[in-house]
Amino acid sequence: MKINKSNGVKNNLLKILIAAAEVTPIAKVGGLGDVIGALPKALSKLNLDARVIIPFYGAIDRNKYKIKLIKQKIGVGEALINLWQTNLPNSTVPVYLIEHNFFKGREIYSNALADDPKDTKKYLFLAHAILESLKALNFKPNVIHLNDWHTAAVPLLLKTDRQNNEFFKQTKTLYTIHNLANQGPAGQKTPVKSGETGAKLFDGVNYMAEGIINSGIVSTVSPTYAKEILTKKYGARLENILLKRKNQLYGILNGIDTDFFNPAADKLIKKNYSLETIENKLNNKLSLQKKMGWPEDKDIALVGLVTRFVWQKGIELITEKFSELNCQFVFLGTGEKRYEEALLNLAKKYPGKFKVLIKFDEKLAHEIYAGSDIFLVPSRFEPCGLTQMIAMRYGSVPIARATGGLKDTVNAKVGFIFKQFAATKFYDTLQKALNIYYNRPKAWNQLKKNGMRQDFSWNKSAKEYLKLYKKLIK
Ligand code: ADP
Repeated sequence: MKINKSNGVKNNLLKILIAAAEVTPIAKVGGLGDVIGALPKALSKLNLDARVIIPFYGAIDRNKYKIKLIKQKIGVGEALINLWQTNLPNSTVPVYLIEHNFFKGREIYSNALADDPKDTKKYLFLAHAILESLKALNFKPNVIHLNDWHTAAVPLLLKTDRQNNEFFKQTKTLYTIHNLANQGPAGQKTPVKSGETGAKLFDGVNYMAEGIINSGIVSTVSPTYAKEILTKKYGARLENILLKRKNQLYGILNGIDTDFFNPAADKLIKKNYSLETIENKLNNKLSLQKKMGWPEDKDIALVGLVTRFVWQKGIELITEKFSELNCQFVFLGTGEKRYEEALLNLAKKYPGKFKVLIKFDEKLAHEIYAGSDIFLVPSRFEPCGLTQMIAMRYGSVPIARATGGLKDTVNAKVGFIFKQFAATKFYDTLQKALNIYYNRPKAWNQLKKNGMRQDFSWNKSAKEYLKLYKKLIK
């Protein structure tokens, strides 16, 4: 049994409940799910008792994940919930799933593009249900780790319920902001005053703000974003509230699930490869070109992009001028019509240059990471960003805007970075990259290899989270 000398807490007695709206692969929409699917596995390797709790959405495949009913008819106010359980695949990390009519729908979020008022009640209910589930399980976590607005009401409920709530006497809270832009349906329309603590939970509450105000420690998903959100430009109207919590605000870079995203073992790609067999990456490029209906051409640079097509992601920086560049583009994503249409128009006009696939497709995403030479991440803001890290792991060289986690992970050794959010800057940077790709193959190979050598595993970040948990329970 390991004893940590600094505070006498044994890691293997530390109980952490991680609560969120998504967990990959059981219920994934985006990066939030990826974090919740990977962090607890890394924590359990550090001998923590880490468990996950999410809603039991209608879309979840109960057979595939061997989900079992463990508790029935737990009271949540007037309502009753059932609790189900499985493990995160390839781990012993328990995942609890809360069953209630609120979560029966096929979609995880009512609207994939914006926080929907229909979800307010659903996630407020989730916050209550999380606490009642813990009581029913008789699981008293040292820390409840909340993630984004969907679970942000929990610290407030703990505060307001405390007198009559012996059960959570020792429980502390960490609130992680994965994306400050999504503040809950009331979100940015609602004026937020600092010190709204104890506010009645009604539709007009800004849940993001409540999470920031009421939790023990606040963290976000990269050191640069932690600094950026204290400014008006990136603070999404909460910068003043965040400034008040500046001394309890930390930035911990996300990792990626290096088992799931592993070119050497990935079953979704055409041919596996590693640093030692990097030449096999080419098979994936040829196969992707074929799948796109293009002739196989090993020489032309293939440029990939996998993302949500939304304002944050800087899609409008891809202009018609990009058709003049000597490369092929494969874009995969879904999102706002205006971006989907703009990209589809390019594909229609320049079918030999652009392929645009409007869908969520895990296999194709992996094929693009493996098959592309260059990967685009032109975000307007980016709390952490996972796609640039995944791309590097697959030997695809990122071109990213210098913001948030992109700034913390992409540099001249592994890729290209541009500062100003402008189509011309992005274009020039891609052109510069293509010049190196075509004219300096050795330098290009070095970039590729440097990227593949980076350690994007969760091990390092999990240790940082452990430090925060210990800070909370000191
Ligand atoms: P965000 O969380 O803002 O969507 P991230 O870069 O943090 O962005 O994470 C995005 C994750 O979702 C990555 O794993 C990426 O591969 C995946 N992804 C995004 N869009 C698609 C899509 N259309 N099909 C498959 N995977 C996608």
